[in-house]
Order: sequence, then structure tokens, then C-alpha cells
Amino acid sequence: MSETFSAESRLIHAGSDRSAGQPATPPLVPTSIYVSEGEPRRERAYGRDGNPGWEALEEALGRLEDAEAVVFASGQAASMALMLTLAQGRDRIVLPADGYYGTRVLADKLRPHGAVPVPADLQDLAAVASELKAAPAVLWAETPTNPLLRVADLAGLAETAAAAGAPMIVDNTTATSLLQRPLDWGAAASLYSLTKAASGHSDVIAGAVVSRDAELLAGLRSWRSSGGGILGPFESWLALRGLKTLPLRIARQSDSALRIARYLTGHPRVRAVHYPGFERSTAALVRRQMPHGSGPLLSFQVDSARAADQVVATSRLILPATSFGGVESTWERRARWAGETAPDGLIRLSVGVEPAADLITDIDRALDTLEVP
Ligand code: PLP
Repeated sequence: MSETFSAESRLIHAGSDRSAGQPATPPLVPTSIYVSEGEPRRERAYGRDGNPGWEALEEALGRLEDAEAVVFASGQAASMALMLTLAQGRDRIVLPADGYYGTRVLADKLRPHGAVPVPADLQDLAAVASELKAAPAVLWAETPTNPLLRVADLAGLAETAAAAGAPMIVDNTTATSLLQRPLDWGAAASLYSLTKAASGHSDVIAGAVVSRDAELLAGLRSWRSSGGGILGPFESWLALRGLKTLPLRIARQSDSALRIARYLTGHPRVRAVHYPGFERSTAALVRRQMPHGSGPLLSFQVDSARAADQVVATSRLILPATSFGGVESTWERRARWAGETAPDGLIRLSVGVEPAADLITDIDRALDTLEVP
């Protein structure tokens, strides 16, 4: 499709065959094998190497970033393939001390096969530079971070990584490619849990890596084929169906999340609110790096784990559940997960597409059950 159209328009039409008589939407193709003889055509011989549904989803994801995508069974399967592809010849993965805890757990599990994970504060460029210079490394950035929504300077990090000869990966799950384009800031690849806002309906687990580096993409496809972390045909169909409405959902979710974060700021029962742009030191950076909104995820702190549990249990609209980015609002006390380093009384709230006023009514009532300190 002509590149004169916006990424959103190209996304809507990705994967469609415009010939007469073809279905308007990319079909679901459940097959493990293809008719094939002689020299096999890699993507159409065995189902672990290709599926038309992946290709449609990859086309859509690639169009959003003027790049190519490789989809996986989950965000973690995508991270694992990326870590394994990049680990060769590198001794360390420098990653945020306060990012998604599952990435730290995964990197640690891969330690015997590759690089050692080294936690760093990504807002401290000098500290990142010194960790990257200590040995051949990969910089694994995440911004905004889950669950503290801290924002790191992608241009500064890219420059720091380039000076050390390290490729920079950005976990762009919380922002999505509509709110932040890591490849344009110098990243070698963006990493997504498509389970979250990208698919948006809490009905599928999926992941992807998006890149403009042909060698890296080939390495990822090779790990996917030999490791087998492939996306099922139905899952790729669901993920693409959800992705097409991402522009609408993310705009509303970002507006509502900002409104709710402002409402929570100064609430007598709330100790702290975390949302991109709220930290004074990174407010200008957020305007530059995420000019179209800050996403569905926010977190806030109440006095104790017990108080947080009580708030979560009291809501009548917001669903007590993990994950984020879905059309339904969800929240949880984040430190209930072993391995998570978030403060005990931190509640992570994923704002859905319900009217913000209803969500504020629900939050207000839940907070009202706490004693004013
Ligand atoms: N990256 C981030 C920021 C996440 O929050 C998650 C999951 O919560 C993942 C990656 C892993 O994705 P998945 O659960 O699809 O494996």
C-alpha cells in the first residue's frame, strides 16, 4: 500500500488481499503442514516455519514502525529469542533495575548460555555508560517502566550504547509503537508483549520483535523455527483483529489515565502517583519522546500492603487482575508477585476504555474505605 497514507490507515488494511473475491479480513489458517515436494519453500512446508496469519500480523506491526516484525508465542518467547540472538560474543545484558521483573528473571535463567544480567538505573547515563564499557554488552532498555512508569531518554541511551558498540533494545510494551518509536531514536529493535495494549482484549498471549536490521531479523526467525516458540494461527488472528483498533483505544486510554493520575495526585489517602510526565526531572523528555500520550498504565501508592489489598478488593468496576492494556480496567497490588521489587503498598492500574468518570467513581469509593492517616 502507498506509503503516502498514515501508519494507522496502513495498519487497518495490513494482510488484506485486494483481489476480487478475496475475504476482506485475513483468514485464519489452522495448519501444521503445507502441500510441498522437492526443495522445500521454507515458510510453506512446515507450520513451525510460517503461517499466513503471522505474516499478516507481521505486516501490520512492521508498517507501524517502517520496519519488519517477527512474532512469537509470547512477549517472553520474543525476549528469549532476542537475548539468545544477541548474546553471542557479548558478556553482559545491561537492563533496568526497576523494569518488568520477568525480563530480569529470564535474563538470569539464560546466564549459563550467554550474557550476565547487570541492573542499572537507565536515568543515569553515566552509570549506563560505565556498565556498557566494562565488557561487550547489550543495552536492554524499557521505558516507561512497568510498574513505576519511569521514563528514560532514548536518544541519550542510544548515543551511549553506540559509543560502547552495544546494540540497544527497547521493551516498548507499555507505550506501544503509536506513542513511542524506539527505532527512530536509534534502537536496534523494539520488543513487545502483544498480550497487552497491542492486542487489547485480554484474550491472547503473544509477542513480537520489530527491527530494521536484516541480520538480527534472520537470527530471530532462526531461533523461532528451531526453538519452536511460535504463535498459534488463532492467536495471530486474534492479535491482528485487536491491533487494528489500537489507535482508538490507546488515545482514549491515555486521556483517561492522565485524568485519573491527576485525580489521584493530592488525594488524602494516596502517598505517591506514578505516570509518565509526573516526575519533574523527565517531564520535558516525555513531551519530546511521547508527544501523543502516555499510555494506559499508571501506579499509585497507599500506606501499606493491607490497605492496597483492601482497595483492590473493594472495586465494583475495575477488575482485580494482572496484566494491562485491555479494554477493561484492571488493577492489582504489584508486590504480591514473588520477584517483583515494587513498594508493598503500590497498586498498578491499567485504564481501560470505560468512561473515566465511572472509573473515578469506583476508585473514589474504594479509597474511601481506608482511614485517613
Ligand atoms: N514486557 C513487559 C513490559 C511486560 O509487562 C510483560 C508481561 O507482563 C512482558 C514483557 C512479557 O510478555 P508476555 O506475558 O506476553 O510473555
